[in-house]
Amino acid sequence: MLEASTPVQYVKGIGPRLAEILAAKGIATVDDLLHYLPFRYEDRLNPRSVAELRAGEMATVIAEVRNSGLFRTRRMPIFQLTVGQGRNKLKCLWFNAAYLEDRFKAGQMLALYGKVEEDRDGQLQIMQPQVEILGDINEEGGADEAEKKAAASLEIGRIVPIYESAGQGKLTPRWFRRIIRRTLENLNPDLPDPIPAAVRAHLSLVPVREALWKAHWPEAGESFTDLQSSRTPAHIRMIFDELFFIELGLELKRREQKAQTGIAFQLNDAVRQAIKKILPFHPTTAQKRVLKEIATDMQTPSPMRRLLQGDVGSGKTIVAFQAAIIAIENGYQVALMAPTEILAQQHYFSARQILERAGYRIVLLTGSLEQDRKRDVRRHIAQGNAQLIIGTHALIQDKVEFENLGLVVVDEQHRFGVMQRLKLMRKEGAATARNHVGTYALVRPSERPSPMPEPDVLVMTATPIPRTLALTLYGDLDLSVLDELPPGRTPVVTRALPDERAPEVWDFVRRQIAAGHQAYVVYPVIEENEERELKAAEQMHRQLREKIFPSLHVGLLHGRLDAGEKERVMREFQQGKIEILVATTVIEVGVDVSNATVMVIEHADRFGLAQLHQLRGRIGRGAAKSYCVLMRGGKVSEEGERRLDAMVRTNDGFQIAELDLELRGPGEFFGTKQAGIPSFRVANIIRDRQLLEAAKREAALVISGPNAEISKEEVDRALREMRSRWALTYGLVEVG
Ligand code: ADP
Ligand code: MG
Repeated sequence: MLEASTPVQYVKGIGPRLAEILAAKGIATVDDLLHYLPFRYEDRLNPRSVAELRAGEMATVIAEVRNSGLFRTRRMPIFQLTVGQGRNKLKCLWFNAAYLEDRFKAGQMLALYGKVEEDRDGQLQIMQPQVEILGDINEEGGADEAEKKAAASLEIGRIVPIYESAGQGKLTPRWFRRIIRRTLENLNPDLPDPIPAAVRAHLSLVPVREALWKAHWPEAGESFTDLQSSRTPAHIRMIFDELFFIELGLELKRREQKAQTGIAFQLNDAVRQAIKKILPFHPTTAQKRVLKEIATDMQTPSPMRRLLQGDVGSGKTIVAFQAAIIAIENGYQVALMAPTEILAQQHYFSARQILERAGYRIVLLTGSLEQDRKRDVRRHIAQGNAQLIIGTHALIQDKVEFENLGLVVVDEQHRFGVMQRLKLMRKEGAATARNHVGTYALVRPSERPSPMPEPDVLVMTATPIPRTLALTLYGDLDLSVLDELPPGRTPVVTRALPDERAPEVWDFVRRQIAAGHQAYVVYPVIEENEERELKAAEQMHRQLREKIFPSLHVGLLHGRLDAGEKERVMREFQQGKIEILVATTVIEVGVDVSNATVMVIEHADRFGLAQLHQLRGRIGRGAAKSYCVLMRGGKVSEEGERRLDAMVRTNDGFQIAELDLELRGPGEFFGTKQAGIPSFRVANIIRDRQLLEAAKREAALVISGPNAEISKEEVDRALREMRSRWALTYGLVEVG
């Protein structure tokens, strides 16, 4: 008897060697195997007789072997088999198939499936058909046997599931059909349904067993369109199932966070005055609304867990600074974490410009500080001398002890996947333990000093995820959206130009600089080939400096420079001493020099939309009109063209995100590759948006239970299932 949690190795026919191949596909348990759904189905109902076959159709045929043989062409051995019924004959060919030579005997009954064609002589043939030997009619009882076998066949006379093969073709679709079928047959029949009956009733979901069976082995009457688009009742149940347990985890997490003791910050007139005083400009309506949402959270005693979403340039930084003031004025420390050192430095500059006037003590903590200095900074933080601590995530997270941390701001969260974020949050729990952001796991509850309040957390991102998706994917966070750009901006004018027109582009850059502006020339670094790209940037830098703009100041910025050098280059660009900055994508996030009005991106066609949009967000930050030139050389892929088109057409981050999502699919879009979101087994969060929302709603209902509809037993079972899935799939056992 197989349980959902049984390792696949123990399924008959698998064993340790094949289990390894399956593991590479993410299939470890019986449950995983059963969620390995066919990627398409073939209609092999109604076997035809040879006489009925027509060229051009996909067909299943049952016929008798007449003769077979291997003949060798110069290029490869070809196996030919002729089958027939009465006078009608059908030829079958397999390339490179010497192994078939001794497989068939005249008189055997075969089931064949494939595309019927006509050869040069007008004779019907099928190339590379699926084949199954049903029996030998020359043997005693052979005909009956063959008939029975045909009826029970997994290959013909039914809708057949087609699975992706695994292990370089070692595990074929056919192999999967057999194994999954056997697994279904041996599955514990008392498998309880982990989704409460009431929830199933709300959405008319079929029970789990039925869903599993029918998703793999649809019944003859099933609509083929529904099957191909994963819209059968069985599919819907399985998709909902997957989303429901993710949402259940997020919802539970959210409630637990809310139940913790946080800090109820005071927002009195003095604090309000302090906030007002620092503002270098009038906040936008959106900024005011968002600040209010944040301030309200901060005043309540439960810890804030808020996601601030706003397109590049929408002015998230100042909102974060305002929140920081609330915390600092209340006597707490604030940590501001950035994904890159350059961005941390950038924030440090602006923080000093904007906040130091108010007398706040601000420190920068980066990996490149000298040991002594680092120790000093840490001491200041531990003793509470430093009020605003700015640094990279790695630094602040791991080793820093705070005197009394009240607010954590995580900037540009889109650089970090959801899973990393969950881990991050968990670590922040450390603050409860020892005012320490990195040791939660190390401190057992009994060793914790008297409970310290949880700091508030504000996470900021420029990834403009459609709102419904954000609500569900980031289900454990409250959401604020900055949906308005600061006034006086003219949208960036974007052009895509072929490399040949570079001279005109450089002329244009020259004129912009003569008019007092600055420019970026970007060489996006391609991950696999960083070395070479770096060289390209360095070469380009030399060429621009020596040949093209000999009378201008051309700086170079890339991730491999040491920190002092980075800082110097950024400062000089900010001060206008450097007029043209040649850079890799290190400038993608956060860099803010509003006098820069031109960005030339080389090889723009090779880069992702989100990245291009982020890069372009570096210009158009002041009142002057800005220009983005996307250079492309050589042959551009069709997708590359579509990306460039989209960039030229719109400046709207949400539109770009939608298109990006469409072009890349959700996995890539959300960076599953970098351990981003849970990679869904059957759901597709774009296609299944509605189910996602239903799952969120129902999850909240179950967590509030038990009630008249949902028994305690059902709630417990659902929670148990959720925990085991989160532990297995996402490696996060700590939920709940
Ligand atoms: P992002 O949301 O991409 O982090 P920033 O916070 O870097 O954006 O802000 C982009 C630019 O807009 C900065 O130069 C900032 O000073 C400016 N800015 C922000 N808010 C306003 C405002 N309300 N009015 C004018 N300029 C603003
Ligand atoms: Mg920013």
